[in-house]
Amino acid sequence: MITCADIFWKNDTPYSTGFDDFYFNTEQSHEDSLYVYVNANQIPARISSKQKLLTIAETGFGTGLNFLLTAQQWLNKSSNRQQLHFISVEKQPLSHKDLKRALHQWKDFEPLSSKLLNQYPLACQGFHRLSFPDERITLTLIFGDALDSYKQLEASIDAWYLDGFSPSKNPDMWSPELFREIARLSKPGTTFSTFTSAGIVRRGLKAVGFEVKKQPGFGKKREMCLGTFIKNNAPQVDTKPWFSIPKPEQPTEVTIIGGGLSGCSSAYSLAQRGIKVRLIEKEQHLATAGSGNRQGALYAKLPVSPTKQGELHLTGFLHTVNLLKRKDPEQSFWSQCGVAQLATKENEKIRQQELIDNDHYPDSLVQHKSDIELSEISGSVVSSSGLFFPTAGWVSPVDFCRLLAAHPNISIEQHDITNIEQVDHLWNLTTINSKHLHCSHLIICNAELANQFKQTEHLPLKAIRGQVSITEDSADLPQLRTVVCGEGYISPAQGGKYCFGATFDLKGKQRDVTQYDHNRNLEKLKDALPEFHNALIGKNELLTGRTAFRCSTPDYMPVVGPAPIYSDFVETFGRLRKDKNWRFDGCTANHHPNLYLNTGHGSKGLITCPISAELLASMICNEPLPLPKTLIDAVNPARFIIKNLIRRAI
Ligand code: SAM
Repeated sequence: MITCADIFWKNDTPYSTGFDDFYFNTEQSHEDSLYVYVNANQIPARISSKQKLLTIAETGFGTGLNFLLTAQQWLNKSSNRQQLHFISVEKQPLSHKDLKRALHQWKDFEPLSSKLLNQYPLACQGFHRLSFPDERITLTLIFGDALDSYKQLEASIDAWYLDGFSPSKNPDMWSPELFREIARLSKPGTTFSTFTSAGIVRRGLKAVGFEVKKQPGFGKKREMCLGTFIKNNAPQVDTKPWFSIPKPEQPTEVTIIGGGLSGCSSAYSLAQRGIKVRLIEKEQHLATAGSGNRQGALYAKLPVSPTKQGELHLTGFLHTVNLLKRKDPEQSFWSQCGVAQLATKENEKIRQQELIDNDHYPDSLVQHKSDIELSEISGSVVSSSGLFFPTAGWVSPVDFCRLLAAHPNISIEQHDITNIEQVDHLWNLTTINSKHLHCSHLIICNAELANQFKQTEHLPLKAIRGQVSITEDSADLPQLRTVVCGEGYISPAQGGKYCFGATFDLKGKQRDVTQYDHNRNLEKLKDALPEFHNALIGKNELLTGRTAFRCSTPDYMPVVGPAPIYSDFVETFGRLRKDKNWRFDGCTANHHPNLYLNTGHGSKGLITCPISAELLASMICNEPLPLPKTLIDAVNPARFIIKNLIRRAI
């Protein structure tokens, strides 16, 4: 659980009651921070040196002053071909209100400070990726303890701003374990600076491989310290080499197979980085399969206690909402109308009560409401109490796909690819009409068809049939104001029609819409919204519908990352069959060069595709990764081979 900082304002300077200290110098905040962090790390010179990607990491985001000062230098000195990636951790984020007050006083940071406020995440633990494409800046803001957060980061840092309250007031943060993580994320030439010259910090950084110097501090402060990384004195052993990620040169062009949410968001994330994308779809239009429904609910079903799936869904949900807010602020094809998740069954009531009692999520994300309150909020009588997600809503996935693909760097081509082969460092794609296409980098995003190629046939992908029902009109029906989920879901009317469903059919293969499935959808609707159901009855013969297949995996996590070479993995890690704890120092796993996967999103594509696309694009471009290591491993395509070896199933 993340708790927002308890702030006391002395004029315009925030004071932390928890740490008993000011966030920054009360008189010369800008000059002090520029001296201690930006200039001590030679950031202006590094920007001018035309380094393509500059990566800075900080401990303690606070008000974002260091971030904004760095961005100001960046905007003055960088060229169009350069990117800044700023990473910061924060254990006790400022509330949105406090951040607004802090930023309000610094007019010279506009318009970036307003954009930061717009994207500032809800106080949820974990990784949050904020994008400022006009400024060529990415901010990965991690809410959590510095050590826990940096343990989970995959990045190569150029400069460290070691802020955070002083070691005497905040001894827990300045630990040898944190210094070891800082060293793991550094390379020869990485610099650091910090306002403190405490012995524990100097010795700690020296012990892990930094050359440490002192220099006069700013203003009345006697000393500060700074330094350069020479070499890691405590080399880390990779304990799970099967999850290692290749580090390629950034490509200029990438080809993607599949024009649904996964393919379109992968294309968008790469196009944003200046990469030309050829997006291949076998149908005439984008989003004709699993991403083709009229409306999809945009929310994350939260677990009572943290799970990897819950963490991915929450991170992905916040990421998609942020993306939609930036790309379609008028909400022309989506709506942040809120989602009511009803507890129609007794065990769900108990689960929801536990979730609220655990207090793991902020009120701004989820609140408990009675049936009367939810009826009032949603616009029709609901059958039970439940959870309400005020920032959630619905999206038209088809329009979302179109918007993502409408980028000058993306070209769309219609082909049905039947075979892929690597020849002379290029991927040779064969179409159903025996045409050949070539590319250096390839991403497979075609849902359950992703294992039709021999390189990927080992992937255990399943197609799960789902049917939604659509009303002829919405005129005589209660006007829903929010999405309502029970065993199924229904969104507010779009284009004068309601869309509700969906069935979940593990074995179904039928593409036709059936009355049997309409009846199942109506049953679920009746359990959740009896008044609405009553009004609809008698009209149900007018229902139309749509079936689609969701691509699912045995662990219900998507498949995102480099494509492993099956036979190499089985051979290299075969000893796991005998000893699941065996550690393979020095062994590396082989992947098909420049071949990636983004599939298996089930019915959660709206919340998992954009963040997965960002993960892939960051991998392909060798940038800091937007998810914690545990989640990156949990979606790694090689996990099925490793699990099967341990279970001796192969
Ligand atoms: N860099 C900030 C700025 O530009 O406004 C000022 C940072 S303030 C001096 C120190 C920050 O470190 C506070 O926001 C505090 O909550 C954060 N902090 C303290 N201990 C931490 C920890 N263990 N992990 C992450 N953040 C921590």
